[in-house]
Amino acid sequence: MDEASPVTRAVRAGIDSDPTHGAVVAPVYLSTTYTFESFGRARPFDYSRRGNPTRSVLADAVSGLEGGAGGVVTASGMGAITAVLHATLTPGDVLVAPHDCYGGSWRLFDAMARRGLFELRLVDLTTAAGIAEAVAARPSVLWVETPSNPLLRITDIAVAAAAGKAAGATVVVDNTFCSPVLQRPLELGADVVVHSSTKYLNGHSDVVSGVAIARDAALAEQLVWWGNCLGVTGGAFDAYLALRGLRTLHLRMERHSANAAAVVELLQDHPAVSRVLYPGLPSHPGHEIAAAQQRGFGGIVSLELAGGAPAARTLMESVTLFCPAESLGGVESLINHPATMTHASMPPDVQAAAGITPGLIRLSVGIEDPADLVADLRAGLAKLA
Ligand code: PLP
Repeated sequence: MDEASPVTRAVRAGIDSDPTHGAVVAPVYLSTTYTFESFGRARPFDYSRRGNPTRSVLADAVSGLEGGAGGVVTASGMGAITAVLHATLTPGDVLVAPHDCYGGSWRLFDAMARRGLFELRLVDLTTAAGIAEAVAARPSVLWVETPSNPLLRITDIAVAAAAGKAAGATVVVDNTFCSPVLQRPLELGADVVVHSSTKYLNGHSDVVSGVAIARDAALAEQLVWWGNCLGVTGGAFDAYLALRGLRTLHLRMERHSANAAAVVELLQDHPAVSRVLYPGLPSHPGHEIAAAQQRGFGGIVSLELAGGAPAARTLMESVTLFCPAESLGGVESLINHPATMTHASMPPDVQAAAGITPGLIRLSVGIEDPADLVADLRAGLAKLA
């Protein structure tokens, strides 16, 4: 299995691994605790916060897909980020993060920095000047999110990782938007990959979970240690569901990308749309880098409506297939207004600095029939004329 392709390994993770009954599907181990083999002699698993067989299968599967040495499966993406911050930063250290990262990540970085747990510098990592600014801050951790949420800005992972490493930083990439099917940051020089596996890895909008994977075994062990110490590890049933989702990840990512391209085609020429943000568009400033470091452009499309906030409201109230909801990466299509939904935790000045405008809409394009999705958006946009 170790030599099999990432696709095969994801499909087969934990399959036919049950020594007791020969169950084809990996069993869900719900027991919180495990008997000791003998006095003072624990088994590989003793208590489910520290380790759980079902969670281990998922951690190994994602680690294999990312090309890592191992890592921790957490109860949410924020749990994974929390574990990474604790494993890598101490007071006095500098964390450099993108100025337009996911709002929840920004909130955590900001809140921990305000407590004096580290110093936070927000920079635009998509530019050479931003990378230089990042390096000058002598960061202990350089945080990359590409494509970024919700503006789909692209950071050159290899360039950022080389600069970060030269400055002595641990380089972390939030790979939530691409999944390892479309992008493998560890191969490009990153040290750690984090995911909100609530999104594409699980893919069915029925599990909140996270994963942090390290390239190096010692750091992977630290992530596992902090996951247990903080108590942020994920539940067994969630791991089982995420594992089930992971088996179809490669198929879903292909369809998400194809459907997003169909939606972009409609939006591009529409008079109600002033700007389409999608790395697959040759006009996107990060297109060439995305084409080089990604194996597809993914299912997230953002757009600016010429009519600003009122137009955003009308569109969200008009579409019927795109559900007005936060999150992304599920098989169903969602529509989100970052300024009032996912990124509402950012104060208006931080939103403005990040480029989140009142007319910005983020679509998570699902795997439905693309003709239906295009028709739904076309009808909604017609209301803005
Ligand atoms: N990172 C990114 C890029 C996200 O979009 C999200 C959630 O939207 C998170 C991290 C946090 O993940 P979770 O909601 O699973 O805690």
